[in-house]
Amino acid sequence: AEIYGIDRWGHQILTVLANGDAGLVDVMNPKAAPVSIPSIVQDLGERGINSPILLRVNSFLQNSLIELNQGFAKAISDYQFEGQYRGVFPIKVNQQAEVVERLVETGRQFSYGLEVGSKPELLIALSQNLAKDSLLICNGVKDEEFIRLAILSCKIGFNTIIVLESPKELDLVIRVSKALGEKPRLGVRIKLTHKITGYWAESSGDRSSFGMTTDNVVAVAERLKAEGMDDCLILQHSHLGSQISDIIDVRRIVNEACRFFTELKALGMPLQFLDLGGGLGVDYTGEKQSNENSINYSLPEYCEAIVETVKYAMDEAGIAHPNIVTESGRGVVALSSMLIFDVLDTTLYDSATLPEVDSDAHHLIRDLLAVQDYLSTKRLQECVNDAIYYRDEMRALFRRGNMDIKSLAQAETVFRFLVAQFKKLAVDTETSPQLDEQLGHFADIYHGNFSLFQSLPDVWAIDQLHPIMPLQRLNETPTRQAMLSDITCDSDGKVDRFVLADGISKTLPVHDLAEDEAYYIGVFFVGAYQETLGDLHNLFGDTNVVTVALGEDGNFDLIHEVEGDTIAEVLDYVEYEAQACLSTFRKRVDRAVSEKQLSISERRVLIEAYKDSLSGYTYFEK
Ligand code: PLP
Repeated sequence: AEIYGIDRWGHQILTVLANGDAGLVDVMNPKAAPVSIPSIVQDLGERGINSPILLRVNSFLQNSLIELNQGFAKAISDYQFEGQYRGVFPIKVNQQAEVVERLVETGRQFSYGLEVGSKPELLIALSQNLAKDSLLICNGVKDEEFIRLAILSCKIGFNTIIVLESPKELDLVIRVSKALGEKPRLGVRIKLTHKITGYWAESSGDRSSFGMTTDNVVAVAERLKAEGMDDCLILQHSHLGSQISDIIDVRRIVNEACRFFTELKALGMPLQFLDLGGGLGVDYTGEKQSNENSINYSLPEYCEAIVETVKYAMDEAGIAHPNIVTESGRGVVALSSMLIFDVLDTTLYDSATLPEVDSDAHHLIRDLLAVQDYLSTKRLQECVNDAIYYRDEMRALFRRGNMDIKSLAQAETVFRFLVAQFKKLAVDTETSPQLDEQLGHFADIYHGNFSLFQSLPDVWAIDQLHPIMPLQRLNETPTRQAMLSDITCDSDGKVDRFVLADGISKTLPVHDLAEDEAYYIGVFFVGAYQETLGDLHNLFGDTNVVTVALGEDGNFDLIHEVEGDTIAEVLDYVEYEAQACLSTFRKRVDRAVSEKQLSISERRVLIEAYKDSLSGYTYFEK
């Protein structure tokens, strides 16, 4: 099990017990002994909830939120900071009602609030029972109706702050607020100049699409004064992009934000909240380094870096400490869920047996066979080159009609036998990147019952790395190296980068499938962004989603379940009416019956299969 590096990236919430259950991945249970994920999957299966499953562990969700709030509370106390921490959850990171409602419930003790970036998200936030002091921060482009809702919501007990994205938005806010006779609570979004690195670099710096330039910010302050509304501007906002991987960037960003804050205060704006946006990263690989998939800081360090930087900047400017807001999304929800799917089939690129090769076989087949005579670790590269050459020559002969199909089949089998030998030798040999690349082409393919586009969109779109590993048989040495392919008919639907103990690998060590025994693979830390960014490629819909609570008896309770989309539901998304489809199909079947091409009993089988499919899961069903 060590090869997967779970102790490094498992965040102490996932483990494989050294001597306990039979090599299974477990979720750590703060209240009792760890619970094995395959036992949860089996239990869910008995209840009729089948793979693929998005499994959320309630305590992981709650703990991340609690740790964030406690981290800030500790830093605030350690630095004798006089402001408070008022975190908000950005709904866009995971809009699922189950997640938002649980975060609101757990966050009430910390006056934790919500951030919205659109009108639908605003409607979600306004339906939540936020604590009295919690903030409701409105970012994004807002129309008149949005602004009206935001302003009037303050009269029913929400602390709704409209963050101005542009001077034009201020015109609209002024108009709506005058018409309502109500003053708004305002924030201003500032474009900071510091640039971060990583996948979200474009969200930072001069060319980022959001936030106001310095001249616009000054114009907004002056306009508010002129309108007698300067008392409305209570929050300053900036967001530099997600997954900030370097703590020094965090300090620089905060420092720059503080400069704007102190200057705006000097212009007479009564700012109370310094909102530093999202960006708290997640260490997906456990490398503890600043790179796209890892971060070089811990949560307590993040909180300290922010609190210390703000304190020093405010003290230097002689300004009272503001309340600090962060809109951490990824850091709060990423760890809480995992995708679990079963392997449906394998495409193996090697063969354990050698076919009989006659002495009068084509000389290229005999040449290929002879490679095994000089195969050794020292001559591995040479052998690989020769084998590929002979195989490709025979493929060319076949294409030109100079080799028959049986001979080619024999050649391919010999080749796959050699590949098995190459792979074995490569394990104990120092290999060059070129040889790795060549052998990578012969990696096995494990076909998983999931859609990359629906469940792991960032893996497809930006090469995001999530830890992935088999969930069982971890007390057996894996015998194969595989890449994963999903169930869509798209060659992009594959995963070929894996986090292992000794670095990033193009293949995942896996076991040979056993007859009649399900083989499950888990993809971890998928709680942020993946659920709603996913799409309906090939019409694979939402997976089953379950939330479990780990109990004191070492067991678990199923506390929430959302059944995955049925085929009828996904058809409806693309405007097919399931009943209309069924009735057209039925007419055609009946025509075939009346033309005596189909028997009555075949009719029943066909119609039932169509109907059952409509109400069934979009994924492979056993
Ligand atoms: N706030 C704003 C304005 C955002 O655009 C985002 C997402 O990019 C977030 C907060 C959440 O960021 P993160 O998930 O990195 O915490």
